[in-house]
Amino acid sequence: MLVVMHNKATQEEIDNVIRVIEKRGYMARPIPGGERVSIGILHNKGSVDASHFRGLAGVKDVIPVTKPYKLVSREFKPEDTIIRVGESVIGGSGMVMMAGPCAIESETQALTIAGHVKQAGADIFRGGAFKPRTSPYSFQGLGKEGLEILKKVRDETGMPVVTEVMDMGTFDLVEEFADIIQIGTRNMQNFSLLRRAGKAGKPVLLKRGMAATIEEWLMAAEYILEEGNHEVILCERGVRTFVNHSRNTLDISAISVVKKESHLPIIVDPSHAAGIRDQVIPLSLASVAVNAHGLMVEVHHTPDDALSDGAQSLYPEQYEALCRKVAAVHKIFHQ
Ligand code: PEP
Ligand code: MN
Repeated sequence: MLVVMHNKATQEEIDNVIRVIEKRGYMARPIPGGERVSIGILHNKGSVDASHFRGLAGVKDVIPVTKPYKLVSREFKPEDTIIRVGESVIGGSGMVMMAGPCAIESETQALTIAGHVKQAGADIFRGGAFKPRTSPYSFQGLGKEGLEILKKVRDETGMPVVTEVMDMGTFDLVEEFADIIQIGTRNMQNFSLLRRAGKAGKPVLLKRGMAATIEEWLMAAEYILEEGNHEVILCERGVRTFVNHSRNTLDISAISVVKKESHLPIIVDPSHAAGIRDQVIPLSLASVAVNAHGLMVEVHHTPDDALSDGAQSLYPEQYEALCRKVAAVHKIFHQ
């Protein structure tokens, strides 16, 4: 249930509605909007009687929310969520470009790639310090040393950094270094991690589980918002299907569905969807055409020697070409 306040409702009226909701044993969650405040009623078991709230001063309307996800839904908040990270704006009509290697391998590697992607037009640098690998024998990431390198990249280039958190034990550390905390596909339903992310003071990039429906994905985001962190960026990265011509299948239709269902920004990671670099540019352009809010792309200056995901990493020249094409496609749809 959503209590929509008049645009001229006073703070006292809002506080009174919250008080009445809480007195009935529910949780009240004010959602500030561009024009008016709405107050979500959560933690109700069974239906809530709207008549309790309709007559209160300052209340414009009381709307039942039909979807299982509440805080992330457009029903709760009609206008797009806009997230600011450094100088970048994520959400709305902008296009944010995140790029960098799969994993941070060394200071030289990270700074070299950062220089290339920044010059090409990237806004935010990506790179994993803690890597979720299928094999325990594969490179697991540099850990804290990788985070220190990310800090150096930020200091030297001015680009904010996005990096993955894998578990509760390293959460505080990752939160300290990251500008955006990434939760990977394998952890999308790690509910304790989601709750911890909800208490973080940084935006969260939540990747879609490789076998998750959109509803499960939005419910995962709901955990983060429910804990108080409203800055969640969704990231479509492909799902498992029967095909073997690509690592995953990019669910391009998910973008418009998510944009209809949720106010949260949604970006696309074409690299993990493709698995091979030839497919990365076409998938990126398709993502821009369907109005994704941004792209996260893996780039490596010497991909043959990369310690992870070299085959799907673009060469810097390819990334530069991609940025030019992205700008052109974005212009077609936003002029
Ligand atoms: C990554 O972005 O480095 C990554 C591991 O992605 P995903 O969780 O989508 O596999
Ligand atoms: Mn990768």
